[in-house]
Amino acid sequence: MARLLRAISENGGVVFYAIDSTEIVREAERIHKTSAVTSAALGRLLTAASLMSATLKRDSDSITLRMKGDGPAGLVLAVVNGSGEVKGYIQNPIVELPLRPDGKLDVGGAIGHNGTLSVVKDLGLKEPYVGQVPLISGEVAEDITSYYATSEQIPTVCALGVLVDRDLSILHAGGYLLQLLPGASEEEITRLENNVQSMDSITHMLQQGMQLEEIMERVLDGFAPQILDEQQSFYRCDCTKERVERALISIGKLELEKMVKEDPIAQVSCQFCDKTYKIDLRQLLSNLEKKTEK
Ligand code: ZN
Repeated sequence: MARLLRAISENGGVVFYAIDSTEIVREAERIHKTSAVTSAALGRLLTAASLMSATLKRDSDSITLRMKGDGPAGLVLAVVNGSGEVKGYIQNPIVELPLRPDGKLDVGGAIGHNGTLSVVKDLGLKEPYVGQVPLISGEVAEDITSYYATSEQIPTVCALGVLVDRDLSILHAGGYLLQLLPGASEEEITRLENNVQSMDSITHMLQQGMQLEEIMERVLDGFAPQILDEQQSFYRCDCTKERVERALISIGKLELEKMVKEDPIAQVSCQFCDKTYKIDLRQLLSNLEKKTEK
């Protein structure tokens, strides 16, 4: 379970979210058996999604982040709901790339520098809200910042990090999101910029044993931040046999009939949690026919 902290500056002009997402990224690594750089790529996107879930009002609201770049990792996906349940997927979990010159994992190289980040917000309205921006670097945090600036016109600072050990286990993961509400003065913006620039990387701070509250005090130094609440976020997949059946039905009757000839029992794995469902396709087709006759 991950701690997710929500805070606001004393004057109400700056909101701040921070998370220690180590447990979430560990679970993702266990399910998807990711290599170091893909643990970091998927882990950063999961961390961003968890942070963004703090902006949702109802448990049933959801946000889907979809990064598609021209790198070897392929599609990277994270889905979160308002109760903090998050799940993710990476198309190619095994990617090996040399470290960047600064010694960091080359997440931008794995995802790719060209492509798109799309954000789908389902807030229970008739239509979901969809925003899409071109990738800035594929490093995830910058791309999230760009999404907020372009699609939602909210000045945002985003920091995300995943520290992977030599044996590929996840040592630390976390992030923070800082957003300026309308009416922030130039002075405040400069002060925040200076604070952020002087910060250590999030994983380094977690490694040193810093609590989210201390990180908040550093980022919002001079803003007298107040904690609004603490939420929980965790990796959890909500797949069911019914959902898998619905997905199969959506590929069409003709295609299903073809599949029955090959094997009447389909083995379908959930892309988010790797759980396998055995679906009797003949049964599914006969149910489908009954429905269409009605
Ligand atoms: Zn699942």
